[in-house]
Amino acid sequence: MRKNIVAGNWKMNNDLAETQELLSHLKMQLVKEPKADVYVAPSYISLFSAFESLKGTAIEVAAQNMHFAEKGAYTGEISAKMLKSVGVKTVILGHSERRAYFNETDELLAKKVDAALENEMTVIFCFGEELKDRKADQHFEVVKNQLENGLFHISKDACKNVILAYEPVWAIGTGETASPEQAQEIHAYVRKMLTEKFGETIAQDVSILYGGSVKPDNAKDIFGKEDVDGGLIGGASLNAVDFLAIVNSFE
Ligand code: PEP
Repeated sequence: MRKNIVAGNWKMNNDLAETQELLSHLKMQLVKEPKADVYVAPSYISLFSAFESLKGTAIEVAAQNMHFAEKGAYTGEISAKMLKSVGVKTVILGHSERRAYFNETDELLAKKVDAALENEMTVIFCFGEELKDRKADQHFEVVKNQLENGLFHISKDACKNVILAYEPVWAIGTGETASPEQAQEIHAYVRKMLTEKFGETIAQDVSILYGGSVKPDNAKDIFGKEDVDGGLIGGASLNAVDFLAIVNSFE
């Protein structure tokens, strides 16, 4: 059965000391048996210290990005092997900010997905439409293309290492959330796509997170929907009290 998951994407926030401070609050305040798997994704420079300080806790560390190549002349980039060498086994790929500001295409993302899976990492694969797509009633089409072109070439077996995150771009960092019904509509659509591509058993096992202005006061309603298995949290993950309130929102 699929897992409930809450992942915090810290983006380009928190230096080393701030990372340690936020982690110590999270460690102190996280309930003993959370009803969700919990991930935090600090910046590259804090990954190693985050991994060290979270050893023995229920919180896992994820990276926010990685390069597809194993190694070589890619100045400024980080490989899957490097991430694994500091204990990181999960990576967020396809975040809308990477797609928009760093020109990450579906084709590039497909290569990153392959590199992560070949290295036995878990991929949190983000997808979602822009406001113009929703206004033009193209949101299903956009989501379908992003998944088909960036992810659905993987094998059935590799699906066990994939977590999906539906993040409508118009809801990210804007304070405007998709309604629980809007989230459920897309999640159900994606689960149907998973069923058609990989079969019912796999489709039922893949967690599909919602991301976009999730806060303590709306998490419960969104996570209460049948096909929403948790959240990818941006802004609210930078505050321990808010993030943990979201983690504790599962019934
Ligand atoms: C995100 O960037 O993945 C995100 C969901 O951000 P926020 O929660 O701030 O909208």
